Amino acid sequence: MYIDVLLELKNKHTDQTYTYIVPKNLVKQIAVGKRVKVPFNKRVLEGFILKINSRPKDDIKVLEIIDIVDEEIVLNEELIKIGEFIRESTLCSMSSSIQVMLPKALKASIKTNINKKYQINLVLNMAYDKALSLCSSKKQKEIIDLISDGSALKKEASLISLSSVNTLLKKQIIREEEEEVYRLKEINVLDKQKKVLNEEQLKVFKEITSNLGKFQKYLLYGVTGSGKTEVYMQVIEEVIKNNQTAIVLVPEISLTPQFVFNFKARFGGNVALLHSGLSDGERFDEWRKIVREEAKIVVGARSAVFAPLKNLGIIIIDEEHSDSYKQENSPKYNAIDVAEFRAELNNIPVILGSATPTLEKMARAGKNIYKLLKLEKRVNNASLPNCIIVDMAEEIKKGNYLFSERLMVEIESAISREEQIILLLNRRGFSTTITCGNCGFTYKCPNCDITLTYHKSKDNLRCHYCGYTIFKKNKCPKCQEDLNFYGYGTEKVEEEIKKLYPNLKVLRMDADTTNKKNGHEKIIEKFKNHEYDILVGTQMISKGLDFPLVSVVGIINADTTLNIPDFRSGEKTFALLYQAAGRAGRSNTVGNVVIQTFNKDNFVLKCAAEQNYEKFYNYEMNIRKKLKYPPYYYLVSLKVMSKDYELCSKEAIKVVSYLRRNIDEKSLVLGPTTANVFKVNNVYRFGIIIKYRFDDKLVKVLNDLDKMFVLNNKVNLEIDMSPLNI
Ligand code: ADP
Ligand code: ZN
Repeated sequence: MYIDVLLELKNKHTDQTYTYIVPKNLVKQIAVGKRVKVPFNKRVLEGFILKINSRPKDDIKVLEIIDIVDEEIVLNEELIKIGEFIRESTLCSMSSSIQVMLPKALKASIKTNINKKYQINLVLNMAYDKALSLCSSKKQKEIIDLISDGSALKKEASLISLSSVNTLLKKQIIREEEEEVYRLKEINVLDKQKKVLNEEQLKVFKEITSNLGKFQKYLLYGVTGSGKTEVYMQVIEEVIKNNQTAIVLVPEISLTPQFVFNFKARFGGNVALLHSGLSDGERFDEWRKIVREEAKIVVGARSAVFAPLKNLGIIIIDEEHSDSYKQENSPKYNAIDVAEFRAELNNIPVILGSATPTLEKMARAGKNIYKLLKLEKRVNNASLPNCIIVDMAEEIKKGNYLFSERLMVEIESAISREEQIILLLNRRGFSTTITCGNCGFTYKCPNCDITLTYHKSKDNLRCHYCGYTIFKKNKCPKCQEDLNFYGYGTEKVEEEIKKLYPNLKVLRMDADTTNKKNGHEKIIEKFKNHEYDILVGTQMISKGLDFPLVSVVGIINADTTLNIPDFRSGEKTFALLYQAAGRAGRSNTVGNVVIQTFNKDNFVLKCAAEQNYEKFYNYEMNIRKKLKYPPYYYLVSLKVMSKDYELCSKEAIKVVSYLRRNIDEKSLVLGPTTANVFKVNNVYRFGIIIKYRFDDKLVKVLNDLDKMFVLNNKVNLEIDMSPLNI
């Protein structure tokens, strides 16, 4: 027997399988999708069996495999198909597309060794009466009683005496048994109580449930607080009744502990979790739970779209507009594309939900590629919040740099009603830059083309791209004058608000306060329990959180996202403001949102303040059409990267002319330009953009181009087939 093995090699030019021969004693255990250990260039490597043949491809001498790693199949047929889909749609290698789907414990890698966890149980080794008669102490008898009905007793259980256990073991009255356990603990709360769906929810529910078993793409456009989650849960209940399974994707699990909690409470042990906040062991366990069909619902972030559920009945993607569904590193797959591919493969519905759908999705709903479903009212008829735009240029004249008069009034009145406040700022740290007023010196990252951010709690300056850190000095290193602080971040806002209202309790949530395990959960829980009055945070607090007592949301500086040089900056700003505003007044309180800006006449801000998606959509579509951007055109982004500036720019020019010569003449090639952040980690980056509508030649041209750079170890080419950021 011969097998084709896909090895754990990362290089693109080794994207091929290798043939090995299977020794007789292992033949029985061989199956496509299992991992094997094989010799390769004097090393031992792991790889996946992709094909079984009765004879070798060529006459070459083939080597024997060393061992089989798995008892059960790791890569089932569906995963192999998904792997091929990712390879084709992102132009990556098969081995990287397969590895990206799997938890670390199951990737082909000779180095990792993540094992199942076992617990030792105590069980009776003889009949109960006989055991009892052999006991020599009361403590021993107690232990016998505990396991008399055959129930397992954990050896490390705290209530029992270890010396008695050891005596019983020695006398062979009881024995130890190993039991495989899962690391992730179940929650004890069960709340199976369904909500009675309102009219709008019911309509959506009926539409979807009457199409189970069909491939249908839905866009569920539901305002914040319209009860999308309840609809998801009731639809899933129907799916489960049909003996099928479900995948639910959320942007970032750590930001949505309530979402997970609700699912676990409703569906109990049927729910498995897959996300990056889990340890490798936990992920491995959750994956096995799914393979063994013990879990019917998988809730997770991007990579949960690969969950090896059998009998898939539905895929739901909440907060469809979130950037997090696209993987930033290679392979740059988009979980929404994968979900749609899987839905088609399984002939099932896929639902994309959002209060602020991306223009691409909404435009396609207009063309019936997605069936549009709407939830236009908040549950319990709670009204959408009032939004006010405040002109910070005027405020500064009054000496208000951070908090406008209006925001302060709202904060005070919320406090007087014993309600809570969220302050949002899209920048962590204390101040943005430190500059010398005398000679103009600023601290910049030596590796990246960006200024360093001051963090007061650690009194250091950090690069938010590469992590480069230095301690701050009080005097300018160049001219020895005093240094000035410019701009502000979450840390500064926290400090200033504490100065302004010393009696209020203020909590901060950003990448710096949440880097420990469960950091988000703890902050969210404390705030939800009303242990704090004000939550200051970056955009991570704008997503999906449901705090009933929050009545005021202050956007400290709405301009930060607006000024990002990206054609989607308007869309991102709108979504951020709309979602953040949606945190206010979700139950009985009326929400008030204060948007502080230096661009008070900006149309996008106005649409956000009016919470008017349609108005924004029409305005922005018009711009996209004029400027030939998605959804009117598709984009490809290419980055040419090198430590050698001259070489990099030369190669980038060559790439552009190669593209212009070879792709469809109607497609546009822009660039090369220096990328947004021109230098990261000492690597220079030139960007090229292709805009196209229909281009049969494109994929082949890009593949050819890619191959030309594979062997070039001075210059790298990175291709992103549908970039979210350019
Ligand atoms: P969305 O995801 O659309 O922002 P949620 O699903 O978080 O909205 O719902 C907002 C709140 O309304 C939640 O606390 C949820 O439990 C509650 N809710 C949802 N549907 C109903 C209903 N039919 N009746 C009563 N409460 C509901
Ligand atoms: Zn840096």
